[in-house]
Amino acid sequence: MQTIRTVCAHDCPDMCSLLVQVDNGRVVRIQGDPDHPLTAGFACGKVNRDMELVHSPERLTTPLRRTGPKGSGTFAPIAWGDALDEITARWKAIIDKDGPMGILGYAYSAHQGLMNRGLMNGLFHALGTSRLWGGTVCDSCAEAAWDSVVGPVGGADPESIVESDLVVCWGSDLHATAVHLWAKVEEARARGAQLIVIDPRRTRAAKAADWYLPIRIGTDSALALGVMHILVRDGKTDEAYITSHTTGFDRVRAEVLPRFTPAYTAEITGLTESDVERFAAMYGSAKKSFIRIGFGMSRFTYGGNNLRTVTMLPGVTGAYGRYGGGALLATAASFDLNYNAVRKPSGPVATRTINHLKLGEALLTLNDPPICALFIAANNPAVTNPDTTKMRAALARDDLFTVVHDPFLSVTAKYADIVLPATTYLETEDFYRSYGTYYMQYGNKVIEPRGQAWSNIRLTQELAKRMGLTDPVFSMSQPDILKEMFRGAKGTAAEYDPATLPTQGPVSIGHRNGQEFRTPSGKMEFASDTLPYWQPDPADTKQYPLQLLTAPGYFQSHTAFSGVGFLRRREGAPYAVLHPDDAAVRGLTDGQKVRLHNDCGEIGLILHVRDEVQPGVILVPGQRPDNEAVTGTVNMLCADTYTDMGEGATYQSTWLEVRAW
Ligand code: SF4
Repeated sequence: MQTIRTVCAHDCPDMCSLLVQVDNGRVVRIQGDPDHPLTAGFACGKVNRDMELVHSPERLTTPLRRTGPKGSGTFAPIAWGDALDEITARWKAIIDKDGPMGILGYAYSAHQGLMNRGLMNGLFHALGTSRLWGGTVCDSCAEAAWDSVVGPVGGADPESIVESDLVVCWGSDLHATAVHLWAKVEEARARGAQLIVIDPRRTRAAKAADWYLPIRIGTDSALALGVMHILVRDGKTDEAYITSHTTGFDRVRAEVLPRFTPAYTAEITGLTESDVERFAAMYGSAKKSFIRIGFGMSRFTYGGNNLRTVTMLPGVTGAYGRYGGGALLATAASFDLNYNAVRKPSGPVATRTINHLKLGEALLTLNDPPICALFIAANNPAVTNPDTTKMRAALARDDLFTVVHDPFLSVTAKYADIVLPATTYLETEDFYRSYGTYYMQYGNKVIEPRGQAWSNIRLTQELAKRMGLTDPVFSMSQPDILKEMFRGAKGTAAEYDPATLPTQGPVSIGHRNGQEFRTPSGKMEFASDTLPYWQPDPADTKQYPLQLLTAPGYFQSHTAFSGVGFLRRREGAPYAVLHPDDAAVRGLTDGQKVRLHNDCGEIGLILHVRDEVQPGVILVPGQRPDNEAVTGTVNMLCADTYTDMGEGATYQSTWLEVRAW
């Protein structure tokens, strides 16, 4: 029996260090690493089952060529050499005819390794193909909103939370999305901190909080402005901090805050006036208030404004200046590595860029040249993209040559012409930096690849060679690529020697200074082009009575976990949650099959009738593949429209009706 330290590569902010026990080439146990201060010896309930993921009988073991209609999932095994010959011949023919922009290829977030993900994107950059603007399906709006206030830099260190006196989980269900931060919150509470959860859903975290504020969905900016109004009224602002570290507050104070009275704020948010007053009083009195901001509040038509307004609050009280205070959305922007070494080894500065959430539209409509070849790794857009029906119509194009590299035959892979078996993170080396903590770590390979699976790195380097690319990173080992990523690195990360990192375990770039601001002014910016304000969803989106609330499933946070039968069973069949009042007026009962529909489409799910959601809202957790549902998948109901900032997806500005199946 051998124990090997590695890193969890799932799309999760915690980026746990793991100790994996291997017996005879099989993973037999996965535990959290006790030497990592945040992982602290435990892995979450999903990943401590990853031996079932890596050894799943559903894993792909050989390359496959399609033998039936696109989407049918009918394939026959082929040899790696034949698959690569066919792929490179098709790509070269497209380049000869239309130029490289007739190809679109990318790797996305299901594997968080900087090399497995970055080098694949570097291949397509070097070829000069059309490029994907990835992340608009997820975090581009949230990032744009955060950056507009604070700049492209990480937020408060999650490890500082133990010194906080007030923790506010705002639209963030730590039980589902950052379970190790929850452990730090409990440590802070043991020292006397209060925990407030603000969420339209009574989540597990909400049930365990000292105080739960059931805010009306999509009204976060109004509550933040109402709190600022009271802080100004009651003289609880930190004027010295505002003067020395921020810009634009005088305009917000004069032009916006007067109308956000407690009564107006209560009317918008659905909270009581006394709750708005009490929350503002607690926030204003705390010395080290820590806000954990969830990404969900950004996934509305005006979601960018929601998130940026909440981000401003610690600037009003000066909490950004104190360790244990401030706000945390993400940390990734503070790792100043030389990512371009792998992502942009060569190739034109600019080519055609395609927004991730408009991928289906682009494949169906772009000309001059049309996209004739698509390559996808570590992504399942046939389930996770909005307007999934359009996405699938695009993937079904007969004249689109599609290659998918994945450990499983995902819904997207079923549309491919060639499917290539991918390794999981336990079968490849890589380097990781967290997006929710300040740790980075080298992840070791734990077992040999299953069957004929290849890592993204191996596949990239082989394709690069066959396509005639000579950039040195396409023939380097992982430790040598790591050295390239540290050549030209800046900040604290640059203080580490990449030669020692493969054996060093987790290392932190965290610090005890106040929040850094990387805005044009060098200060926190309350008002830039537009003032913060609150706006409801546009009237033309509200043709149906129920608003969609989406959230990660506790055991199926990504479709990447759908390869583990135990986790599928723990999560249960894909379901929707409706308030008892809304169920009663429609004559619906708990456990029955229901049809959710709007102008985009219809899907079938199991109904749960529970008061964890408010009247007027329907919750659908997780993005589950169709074969697990009555029919369809939730993103078939969501339009591919843009948020107000960052051209992100508006999943929660989706309105619909529900009826008996
Ligand atoms: S909490 Fe997140 S990083 Fe940690 S093991 Fe689970 S999925 Fe991986």
